Amino acid sequence: MRLKSIELSGFKSFARKTELQFSSAITSIVGPNGSGKSNVAESFRFVLGEQSMKSMRGRRGEDMIWNGSGAVPRSNRASVRLVFDNRDRALNLDFDDVVLERVVMRDGSNEYRLNNSQVRLRDISELLSQANIGSSGHHIISQGEADRVLTASPKERRAMIEDALGLTAFLYKREEAERKLEKTAENMREVAGLRRELAPHLKFLQSQVRKIEDSKKLRDELEVKYKEYLKRESIYLSSVVRALATEGAQPREEHIELSGRVLELRLKLGEKQNDHGTSELMRLEQEGRNLLHKRDSLGRELGRIEGELVAVERVRVITHDTVPGEQVRTFMHRTLSELEESMSFTDDELKARVQALIILAKDFLRRISDVEEVEPRHSKDDLNRRKIELGQQLEAVTEDEARVVSEVATLRAAIEGEKDASREAERELFLAISRRSELETLLARLTSKQELLERDEAQFKRELGEAGVFIGRTVENYTDTILFASTGQLVSDEETAAEPRTVQEDRRRRIERMKIRLEEAGVGNTATILREHQETLERDEFLAREVADLQASTVSLRALIEDLSTTLSVRFVSGLEKINTEFTTFFMSMFGGGTATLTLAASTNMRKAAQEEVETDEEDEVEEGVDIAISLPHKRVKGLHMLSGGERALTSIALIFAMSQVNPPPFLILDETDAALDEANSRRYGNLIETLAKHSQLIVITHNRETMSRAGVLYGITMGSEGISKLLSIKFEDALAVAK
Ligand code: ATP
Repeated sequence: MRLKSIELSGFKSFARKTELQFSSAITSIVGPNGSGKSNVAESFRFVLGEQSMKSMRGRRGEDMIWNGSGAVPRSNRASVRLVFDNRDRALNLDFDDVVLERVVMRDGSNEYRLNNSQVRLRDISELLSQANIGSSGHHIISQGEADRVLTASPKERRAMIEDALGLTAFLYKREEAERKLEKTAENMREVAGLRRELAPHLKFLQSQVRKIEDSKKLRDELEVKYKEYLKRESIYLSSVVRALATEGAQPREEHIELSGRVLELRLKLGEKQNDHGTSELMRLEQEGRNLLHKRDSLGRELGRIEGELVAVERVRVITHDTVPGEQVRTFMHRTLSELEESMSFTDDELKARVQALIILAKDFLRRISDVEEVEPRHSKDDLNRRKIELGQQLEAVTEDEARVVSEVATLRAAIEGEKDASREAERELFLAISRRSELETLLARLTSKQELLERDEAQFKRELGEAGVFIGRTVENYTDTILFASTGQLVSDEETAAEPRTVQEDRRRRIERMKIRLEEAGVGNTATILREHQETLERDEFLAREVADLQASTVSLRALIEDLSTTLSVRFVSGLEKINTEFTTFFMSMFGGGTATLTLAASTNMRKAAQEEVETDEEDEVEEGVDIAISLPHKRVKGLHMLSGGERALTSIALIFAMSQVNPPPFLILDETDAALDEANSRRYGNLIETLAKHSQLIVITHNRETMSRAGVLYGITMGSEGISKLLSIKFEDALAVAK
């Protein structure tokens, strides 16, 4: 890679577009004081991305812009274009020419361009670092800044040396890796935090899902059990249906038959009981009793009539043969009353007897009188007639009675005969009834069995419905279930039906228990839970993958940092060694002896807080700075501060050149680095720059004729009354005019 040209327009004193071409290994810029030579050196810093205005002798960006003079107005912008020959592709861009451009505006804003495309400063810095053009500007030694390498702190010096060794690119990479590591740690904390937040919810969902799975398992088990149960139950029920049908057929038929027979017998027996014979017998017996009664009363009446006839006969004898009855009775009555009145008995007993006789007599008289009064109605003839009549009636009744008695006897005999026949029917009826009641008991048992069956069938239907609720419609396929015995053998329907019911009841109880467990395990909306669990799980897995990715990138970043650190430290140590060799050589050639050494000096650098969290296992990194130890020949000078101005300049040059020698930059700008040198040293300096020019293009701003004499191209810069720097190519002889 080679510097081709630089073009300044509106930059500081270069109001007009000015182009310097670098066709030679050494280009010298000469000119009077204040003509603008250093502005050229600064234009390099500027275009390479320098951010420190101070290092370009300004306070702000605006100070870089042509500020105007009496004749030429100020510019709005300053721009510098630097053209590289990139045919060797030292810059990682597929262009033969690489053009860098930086523009600054009056408002301080900057624009960076790479082959006319606007880019970021960072892009420029990275591109340049590949070609060993670092940002520390070790290859641009400003006026009076040569000993900056001496005044710098060990740490700053280390940075300059790293830059000179071309390690900046590694440093950039390491910084970037560290930034990424920090960002990764931050992301990891974030993701881990999200996972932590998610964890309890996920745990809850997992337990729900387990419950769902458990109850699914339970339901599957229940389905199997239910199907077996239902199949067995259906086989059992149909066997019972069949059994009842066959068991009941014969008894039912027999019962019907018997009922018919019983009815028949009953009818038959009933007829006999209400038989005409019996009622006739009863009628005859009644008639007999009536006739007896009639005979009795006729007998009594006849007796009375006969008595009356006797009485009538007696009265007739008394009255009809003597006096008229009335007179006699009056007479006797009177006589008896007189007797009664006149009686004077001393003997009381006698008196009583006579009185009794009188009473009897009177009574007798009254009775006769009564008979006489009746006599007109019951005349003797009448009585006789009546007597005959009654006698005839009595005779007739007696005859009837005899007839009835005989009829009763005949009828009774007939009835007795019939009773024997009934007894046979009664026995049959009894047997039929007892058989029928036997059958009824049997049928009642069958009925209760039938009721039991119906109850079981209803229960079966209910269970099927319930099973459907728990299992779903698939349970209706229970008939497809194949039944196995515990031995693993197929079970026939007969065996199934013959199984003790208690076994099946046990099955049902087990099913009930499973149902309860299933209900207790009741989980909410299964689909929602499963979906939510899936989503949460996926999110968690995603986060876990993120963590893993971040961990992996942490590991690889750490490895990268480690590698870079190792590379840096290895290269730094070996580079430092090489620089030391060169440094000593240059130093000795400058001072004609003595020693100069760069040493590593440890200084602890606390790691940043963010890095500490990631790298807890690491110790605070010890960062080493670079110290300079010198000893001058024949002098006891050890410290840099004890050196004279010239000695300082020589030491600086020796170090700068040593650094440039080890890892030559594409170009090196030396702005009056040689100012403090005497003639002898100027020659040595001249020799040194020729040595350096073998590997780097040199642009030397100088007043030194020795230095000028080594240049292939000489540019003279002048400044007229307008305050504008002007460039002209000059010959060495012309240059001498401004040389010291
Ligand atoms: P010496 O040999 O004394 O070191 P030099 O040739 O290096 O001098 P410079 O320091 O490069 O000179 O130039 C300084 C000149 O540039 C000054 O005259 C200064 O006024 C002028 N200058 C600096 N900035 C601007 C600006 N923004 N606009 C116009 N002129 C500027």
